[in-house]
Amino acid sequence: MNQKSVRSSWIITLICVILAAGFLLTSLLSYLATKNYVVQSVSTETLPLLNSNIYSMIERDLYNPINVSSLMANDTFLINWVLNGEEDLPAVTEYLSHIKQEYGFTSAFFVSDLTSQYYYYDGILKQISPEDDHDVWYYDFVDHNKSYELDVDTDEAKQGKLTVFINHRLETTDGKFLGVTGVGIELQHIGEQLVSYQELFEHQIYLVDSTGLIQIHSDETLVESKTIQSVLGVQDSDHFELAKNDIVNIFEIVGDDVTKIVSTRYLKDLDWHLIVEKNEDASLAKAKATLWNNILIGLGITTVVYAAVLGLIKKYNQRIEYLASFDELTQVYNRRAFLDMLIREISITRRYEQPLALLMIDIDDFKTVNDQFGHIVGDQMLKAITRQLKHSLRDSDVIGRWGGDEFIALLLNTSEEKLQKNASRLLEDAKKAVITVKGQSIHREISIGYCFYDGDEEITAQDLVKQADDALMRAKHKGRNQVSG
Ligand code: GH3
Ligand code: MG
Repeated sequence: MNQKSVRSSWIITLICVILAAGFLLTSLLSYLATKNYVVQSVSTETLPLLNSNIYSMIERDLYNPINVSSLMANDTFLINWVLNGEEDLPAVTEYLSHIKQEYGFTSAFFVSDLTSQYYYYDGILKQISPEDDHDVWYYDFVDHNKSYELDVDTDEAKQGKLTVFINHRLETTDGKFLGVTGVGIELQHIGEQLVSYQELFEHQIYLVDSTGLIQIHSDETLVESKTIQSVLGVQDSDHFELAKNDIVNIFEIVGDDVTKIVSTRYLKDLDWHLIVEKNEDASLAKAKATLWNNILIGLGITTVVYAAVLGLIKKYNQRIEYLASFDELTQVYNRRAFLDMLIREISITRRYEQPLALLMIDIDDFKTVNDQFGHIVGDQMLKAITRQLKHSLRDSDVIGRWGGDEFIALLLNTSEEKLQKNASRLLEDAKKAVITVKGQSIHREISIGYCFYDGDEEITAQDLVKQADDALMRAKHKGRNQVSG
């Protein structure tokens, strides 16, 4: 590679680096803009909206049993049945069974304050007692003095399945406490609902109580065993807080592996919080994939452009180098390249005494080819004679075009005797360069002037050329198609 092409490939490399950097920068900026937009829209639009929608759905799922519990607590049949001494067991069993069937709950019950009997849809389940761990809920609820409360517990009538009980106080119109009635829905049922919401919205959805203890979750192992704070890995001192307000609260929780956007909404009547969370990474997965695609496409385009431009430059450089040294028409050395080589060979001859000969060759009456057949035919004649001369010379000899219809040849390692013979052979061979135009064969003869140099004395290339040129003049004057030394 010459200096120019080295410099131009540096410029191309620089341009491609700038191009690649531009691609990278624009891809990165567009990713950051998308990220900003995604995080913004998840925080300000998607999550709050989703939380509100799910809030309504859960309200519908849980408020139905709350309403039914409230209806039971105000049912005169149940109140009267208790006041009448809890005598007709089939009547209350049928009543509870009917409620269970009618609304599709997993349980319907009444616990009497007077007799401590636990009635359910299949009769009497048990007699509750403050000593039984399983009955603590009853005494706690009575102590809290709330009209109703939700409680997640195992259902003894259902092989201990996790159940949300809606406990409601049963009182007479004048406020006399009679016991606790209500219904239960299997947690699995609500869990399944949450899973279907989760699948629908592709967000993690769960419910926690006022302390953060998980109450309803698609992963049942977390229920009543883990808090939202431990699941999210937040400390009390962090900005995360389960706020008891009417709005959807948004938190960005930056974890070691993932960043989560968490929305909380307080369900006032349940004293629980609805949690809807989204992994920021999941929301950004598409944007990240696009970023990588853009980078790859950008680098690919840059590489292709780089290779294509370098290839083109290399090709043009080769062409320029060729045109600088060769004659375009005859494909032999031009005058400049020939002279450069002649200067080198003269110095080699001078140093190593390897004699050389210079031949100046001119086509006889060439002008008439142009005049009679036109320049294109003239060109063909020039090419044909060049081919013939090259063919007649040895591989080690060099030929160039001096200009017009004049050629110059350098014969290396030759002798004066051989030279005369070679020149005469060339003279004869040139006649073999025949071209056919419109059925007419054309050929031309040549004249040759030569000189010999054995390296004895110092000589310039110009002097040597002049000697050969003078000899050519003499050959022409002798009447053309002659060799002159
Ligand atoms: P002489 O025997 O004295 O050499 O006669 P000549 O007709 O060959 O005369 P001369 O050498 O003066 O003419 C050379 C002609 O070659 C003149 C020019 O128009 C023509 N010529 C030079 N270069 C080209 C070329 O590249 N193509 C063609 N077609 N003609 C060329
Ligand atoms: Mg001529």
